[in-house]
Amino acid sequence: MEKIKGLIDTLYLNEDLSDEGLLEIIETIDATSAEYLFDKALEKKAKHYKDTVFMRGLIEFTNYCKQNCSYCGIRGKNSKVDRYRLSKEMILDCCEEGYALGYRTFVMQGGEDPFFTDDILTDIIRSIKARYPDCAITLSVGERSRESYAALKEAGADRYLLRHETASKALYDALHPGMRFENRIACLYTLKDLGFQVGAGFMVGLPNQTSKDLVADLRFIKTLQPEMVGIGPYIPHEETPLNGAKGGTVEETLIMVALARLLLPMALLPSTTAMGTLDPKGREKALKAGANVVMPNLSPTDVREKYELYKDKICTGDEAAHCRQCIEGRIKSAGFRVDMGRGDHASISIPEGAKPIQIIG
Ligand code: SF4
Repeated sequence: MEKIKGLIDTLYLNEDLSDEGLLEIIETIDATSAEYLFDKALEKKAKHYKDTVFMRGLIEFTNYCKQNCSYCGIRGKNSKVDRYRLSKEMILDCCEEGYALGYRTFVMQGGEDPFFTDDILTDIIRSIKARYPDCAITLSVGERSRESYAALKEAGADRYLLRHETASKALYDALHPGMRFENRIACLYTLKDLGFQVGAGFMVGLPNQTSKDLVADLRFIKTLQPEMVGIGPYIPHEETPLNGAKGGTVEETLIMVALARLLLPMALLPSTTAMGTLDPKGREKALKAGANVVMPNLSPTDVREKYELYKDKICTGDEAAHCRQCIEGRIKSAGFRVDMGRGDHASISIPEGAKPIQIIG
């Protein structure tokens, strides 16, 4: 395994590696070299973010979706989903509770719900910004037009998450009926162009996904240079066409998180709820492999279970304050400190009017 360690050292030093080198790591890494990889990724993360982990308040504000991604539990064609939308007032209530709990980033996530027109969304964004000017707003509402993205940015949205899901066109097209890979990628570049802090990302363990596809994902994020990269294991949902698929593992996802950290040292990398769903210590393991963001839930508890992207999603019954406390405990127990600041990308200075970073614990 000396060869693998040598490749990891080269990647650490150059913050890049050939596709062949990445492929060799993915295909042949063993448990000892994986530990070495995680240590190097953590070392790299510490150079930019020390021992801190950012917390974001997640508001899942609509589970309506016009799309039909084959892996997704809330896809439009799943008639068993109990659909909901939060009103503007309910969203503002979530922010109020989140602000009191110390959150300074709100992540508004939803399906591609035509109800939320530009007028409605921009009104909500402006209202949040008027009340909480020191907070960042992250949107995650799928593919929209350039004009729409521009309007959302103009209203005050700071960041936009749009996982590319897979950088393999064939795999992407097979999993996304009615959607186009080229459009997905174009949306990401448009968001960058408009000045959003952009989040791309992908799933690990998709049916028919190969190691080469994963290398393509890593190459894509290295080229795009997104500020955020969400990487999670694919977890099958029984009410989807992929029911019965095997899904991804925590171990292979951790390797991709660590490789992403070494390729994009300043990236904001979430430790995902999906990791915690597969392994009670999954989120702590991701932090130790270079992740530096967690997104506890601020959505009202009565809608949590309805936002089931994958099976057996955890934390659906917990109050916002409980989630905040639970995650903070996990962060500390893994040896990190909670940072309740806005948590911008390390290349971005804190905007005028934002409070200084608060470190807890
Ligand atoms: S992954 Fe997103 S766009 Fe696709 S069906 Fe689910 S919520 Fe809709």
